[in-house]
Amino acid sequence: MYITLKDINKIYPNGFHAVHNFNLEIEKGEFVVFVGPSGCGKSTTLRMIAGLENISSGEFLINGQRANEKGPREREVAMVFQSYALYPQMTVFDNIAFGLTLQGVDEDVIEERVQKTAKILGLTDYLDRLPRALSGGQRQRVAIGRALIRKVGIFLMDEPLSNLDAKQRVTMRSEIAQIHKETGATTIYVTHDQTEAMTLADRIVVMKDGYVQQIGTPKELYFDPVNVFVAGFIGEPPMNFVRDTVRDGCISFGGQTIDLSRKLKNIGRYEGKEIVFGFRPEAAVLEKCENGYTFCCNVELTEMLGDYTNVYINQNGQQAILKVDSHDTPETDQDLTFSVPMENVYLFDGESEMVIRD
Ligand code: ATP
Repeated sequence: MYITLKDINKIYPNGFHAVHNFNLEIEKGEFVVFVGPSGCGKSTTLRMIAGLENISSGEFLINGQRANEKGPREREVAMVFQSYALYPQMTVFDNIAFGLTLQGVDEDVIEERVQKTAKILGLTDYLDRLPRALSGGQRQRVAIGRALIRKVGIFLMDEPLSNLDAKQRVTMRSEIAQIHKETGATTIYVTHDQTEAMTLADRIVVMKDGYVQQIGTPKELYFDPVNVFVAGFIGEPPMNFVRDTVRDGCISFGGQTIDLSRKLKNIGRYEGKEIVFGFRPEAAVLEKCENGYTFCCNVELTEMLGDYTNVYINQNGQQAILKVDSHDTPETDQDLTFSVPMENVYLFDGESEMVIRD
C-alpha cells in the first residue's frame, strides 16, 4: 500500500478533538476525495498528511515507512491550496519554475520541465504573462503547475476550485481529471462539493464531525449508503426521508400507509421503534407500480431545469422532491400520483441511523 493512515487522531492544543480514528489505505495512482460539511476535519486530515499539522496519535506510512515525524519536504508531497497565492510580479513561467529555481536546478532542466508542465496544463501561450492578466481558472492552473513540476509522489489539493465561478469550476474539474490521467499522480483532494467528489474520485471518504462515515467508490456511496448522513449527502437533490414510528408493521407518509413488511420480512423487531424510509428524487415514477409504493400528493412548486424538473410535493405537511422528465412537468397545485419501486427504497434504523439491509 502506498499511503496508510492507521487510527489517526487529531487533538488541537485547545483540546478540540478534530479527527477521530481515521483509517485509510491508498494505492499508488489513486484519486481519493475527502468530502463532508464545513468543519468535519477534511483539511485537518490533509494537513496531517502534508506534514503541516502534527498527528496526535496513530500511524502514518508512506511506502510502508512511518512518516509521522517527517517534515513536509521529506514526505515528497506537493499541495495546492484554496487561495492559489501566485507571486504577482512574476510571470507565469517564473511562478511555475519558482520551486526549482530555489533549489538551484539547472536552467535547461527548468526550461524543459516548465514547458512540459505548461503543455499538460494548456498554459504554453501564457508563460510570459503576469498573473493579473489571467482568468481565475488560468491562475489556478498555474498554482497546480507549481505543484506538478515538483514531480512528487503525492499530490494534495485543498478545495482548489472554491475561488472560481460555477462555469470555471466545471471546466477546471474536467481538467484536473485529465491532468490526473496524464500524470498518474496519487492525489488526495478535499472538497465540500459532492459533485466534485463524485466526478473526480476513484474513492470517496465521507466525513462528519471528525468521523469517517463511509469510504467507497462514487457508485458504492450512491447505491449503497451505510447511513442516513451519507444517503442525504450524496445525490442532488438529496434523498427524501420519511421518519416515523412503526405500528403494525407500517409507517405513514402524510397520512398514507407504507406497509414495510413488503420490503422487510422481519419488520416485527422494529415495532414501536423509529424507522427512516428513504427514496431518491430520481427514483420516483409518475404512475402506479405493482412492486413498489404508490402515493398521492399535491404539487407545491416545480423547477424546470432543462431535461428534468424538480417537483416539490407536500402531502399533509410531509414534503419531498421528485425529479421527473421535464416533458412530464405537472402543474402547481395539481394532485399527482407517483410510485417508488421497491428496489429503490432505503430503510434506516431511526436510532442508530444505519441502513437496514433486507
Ligand atoms: P472546511 O470545509 O470549513 O475547511 P474542514 O472539514 O476542512 O472544514 P477543518 O478545517 O479540518 O474542517 O476543521 C475541523 C475542526 O477543527 C473545526 O471544527 C475547526 O474549527 C477545528 N480546528 C481547526 N483548526 C483548529 C485549531 N488550530 N485549533 C483548534 N481547533 C481547530
